[in-house]
Amino acid sequence: MAKNIFDILNSVNKLWVDIFKLKYHGWHVWNPANVSQSSWFYKSICNSANFIKPNLRILSCNPTSVDFLHDPCLLDLPFSKKPTFLNMSADLEDLHFSDLCTTSALCFASVGNLLGHYLNWDLIGKITISRDSPNRWVWGSLTSKSSTASAVYHDSNCLHNSSDTWLGWSEIWKLVVLPHTKSFIWKLAHGKLATGAFLYSLNIGPFMLCPFCGLEEESTAHLLWLCTKIFTCWANLLLRLGLSPLSHANFDSGAWLTTNYGSRFFNFRVKALIATLTWLIWKQRCNLIFRKIPTNLSSLVPQAWSLCTDISLRSSREVFTSLDSSHSVSIYSDASWLPRVISAGLGFVIIDSSNRILLA
Ligand SMILES: [Zn+2]
Repeated sequence: MAKNIFDILNSVNKLWVDIFKLKYHGWHVWNPANVSQSSWFYKSICNSANFIKPNLRILSCNPTSVDFLHDPCLLDLPFSKKPTFLNMSADLEDLHFSDLCTTSALCFASVGNLLGHYLNWDLIGKITISRDSPNRWVWGSLTSKSSTASAVYHDSNCLHNSSDTWLGWSEIWKLVVLPHTKSFIWKLAHGKLATGAFLYSLNIGPFMLCPFCGLEEESTAHLLWLCTKIFTCWANLLLRLGLSPLSHANFDSGAWLTTNYGSRFFNFRVKALIATLTWLIWKQRCNLIFRKIPTNLSSLVPQAWSLCTDISLRSSREVFTSLDSSHSVSIYSDASWLPRVISAGLGFVIIDSSNRILLA
């Protein structure tokens, strides 16, 4: 799609470019018009343009067709999008890009006088002036050895990789646990769990001590991993799994999600148990605070163990693909109840080997 955008910007001699320019007359990469009933192609062009526009440059300028305010001509961004020094003594009302050019080159003195001297003169020095041809747009970091497509692809990958490289994000959705446990871990990983410390930091809650021990502020790390009251839970679970009973001390960093605990099956099981026990601790905390139900921390590990035994330690995708018999069906169920009001709910879904829902 980036290649198509360059075709439009550089007015390449192609029929579809002519049609596009006719249909979306005045389209600008930095200010695309909002067309109510536009084609998917137009939407894709606008979306891709939004992504690549910070890296677009005009290398060869035709002074009569450069928009001084809205084209990235002398800076990396258009002047309308980037706060910068402007000489207020200059007549900005009627300023045109051609006022900064001689017949065949940029006038560096005029540019310096208008914009000051703290400019990227290397970049400006590469700009050529051509009055007989249209502007030539290029990818900003294009090197002579790479094509535009490969440069855009390379930069996009670097941008994607540098934005967030933590592998744990994808691991959360691979956890073989109940869906609400995955959502809970996702929220926890984003640091958005509504603990006392979190609400207090937002100034929307009072200072709160840990409801289990009452000794320290109720932070996520303390409540779920470090509180002395839940230490036995973690030690118990980790010993059952043959792991160091102290390894939960760094669970707050999310390291447990990216650690490989051994064989594939065991790895799945360890992570499922850690996620489930974490969720059960949180559930006990909420029951204690909001429903005044006394804690029973010793029941948590057996409960987590039981929950993770019931769940098939294969991801749902694998379950579906492993159903090679065309006559088999799978039944999934879940239930919840409120003992106080004697209210219960049961849900189930039956699917066949083609993943069609037969009954729910
Ligand atoms: Zn505590």
